[in-house]
Amino acid sequence: MPAQIIDGNQLAKQIRVDIATRVAILTAKGIKPGLAVILIGEDPASQVYVRNKVKACEDVGMFSLLEKKPADTTEASLLQRIAELNADPNIHGILVQLPLPKHIDSHRVIEAIAPEKDVDGFHVANAGALMIGAPLFRPCTPYGCMKMLESIDYPIRGARAVIVGASNIVGKPMAMLLLQAGATVTICNSKTKDLSAHTRDADILVVATGKAKMITANMVKPGAVVIDVGINRIERDGKVKLVGDVHFESASKVAGAITPVPGGIGPMTTAMLLVTWPATFDVVVTENLFGDILSDEAAVLAGSLGMLPSASLGA
Ligand code: NDP
Repeated sequence: MPAQIIDGNQLAKQIRVDIATRVAILTAKGIKPGLAVILIGEDPASQVYVRNKVKACEDVGMFSLLEKKPADTTEASLLQRIAELNADPNIHGILVQLPLPKHIDSHRVIEAIAPEKDVDGFHVANAGALMIGAPLFRPCTPYGCMKMLESIDYPIRGARAVIVGASNIVGKPMAMLLLQAGATVTICNSKTKDLSAHTRDADILVVATGKAKMITANMVKPGAVVIDVGINRIERDGKVKLVGDVHFESASKVAGAITPVPGGIGPMTTAMLLVTWPATFDVVVTENLFGDILSDEAAVLAGSLGMLPSASLGA
């Protein structure tokens, strides 16, 4: 039987409607979430991602500020601009599009963003908070993968999850989220011996390597859920085509459920930026207004989301 297709476009659409309602409530209270997006250079893929993020914000009624800077922007001037945005009360989230040009140290830039405005969740304070099971911001791509599993009511508790790819932005946070949801997690990388032995053991297989179509049907356990994070541009007949890290045509004949590329985790990543941000936003804003005392509403929200107040992150 062919696999169930987990439709990222459809799920993302529902999420956007929910968020628009939430933003309307915040706006009625006189609080308009503001996101600053910084793009350095002319990378075409980054331009598309940034445009999508800004549009997604605007579509749900959030304020967004897009700052495009030339490729020769200095690290010092970028850090200076981040410091200004950290102090700007109208900006609640800051997103610096990666990758940055080689002369700029990405790690230093991420660490310069105030943790309570780090909507990507890449700052070490946020990565650490995620690791101890108390995230303020969950990185959008792994969070989107979790929502996709949730959308098919997949019983994660006790399942065997294998993640192929161990990057800081996808593989590692994905492992943390699955572990916290009760899965038994294995993370594979390019040095893993006998990769197929691991992937064939997976009830949940998440692939994020950047290697087009590398996971084929014989590497998938029959009935498994396959989440394909990869976005690879390949040329065919003079046209550019997007494909994932999974060989969809064959794997979808073996898997129980699978995400397509395009139309899978891609649209979910942008949608989850909107989810992670207003949810956290309520807590941070309430804290800023009332000091250490959270309102009942925000405290319930913080509890239900398993979040720590930003003060606990040393912000
Ligand atoms: P990175 O290049 O940072 O990491 C790739 C990881 O895959 C590394 O851990 C690497 O191992 C591992 N790897 C590479 N080749 C193999 C292999 N043959 N077998 C096993 N492991 C391997 O990539 P990212 O995590 O940033 O991105 C991965 C993919 O996901 C890309 O296609 C990217 O475009 C896509 N992506 C999609 C997003 C979305 O919104 N849908 C968002 C972010 C990324 P090692 O550590 O040993 O080098």
